[in-house]
Amino acid sequence: MKTCNTCKTDKNLDQFWKKPSSKDGLQAKCITCFHDYYEQTKIAEAPYVYKIVCPDGAYYYGHAQQIPSMRLRTHLRQTGTSIAKHVRAHNWTANDVTMTKLMICTSKEEAATVEANYIYQGSSDPLMLNIRLRAKNKETVETERF
Ligand SMILES: [Zn+2]
Repeated sequence: MKTCNTCKTDKNLDQFWKKPSSKDGLQAKCITCFHDYYEQTKIAEAPYVYKIVCPDGAYYYGHAQQIPSMRLRTHLRQTGTSIAKHVRAHNWTANDVTMTKLMICTSKEEAATVEANYIYQGSSDPLMLNIRLRAKNKETVETERF
């Protein structure tokens, strides 16, 4: 048994993820608390529309509720997205690109609409890395331009 440092509950050792660098080889937080933590950080902010700009001027629009630094890291880990491909192709990291909030919104739907407008306006700009077409069922379809 081990006591979670967050919920202070005694739990079986299989309720903790491994952490080789710690004394007992386990995380201090239990798995449930980790999930709560990730959920909270995912929606830590009001919905917003952002723009990621690369050193060469190429840029990418998106919307999120995650705190921007986490959103950027998430994005760059998602190797299939056009911004991640572009950054990787130039051997850049998160430190080389800038992410700015363009607008704070009152709902995710508003953020998605504002994002779609930005993308629509940039659709003939070769520097824009994303073209996202909004389908009638509100789902978004992403195509890439390279
Ligand atoms: Zn816990």
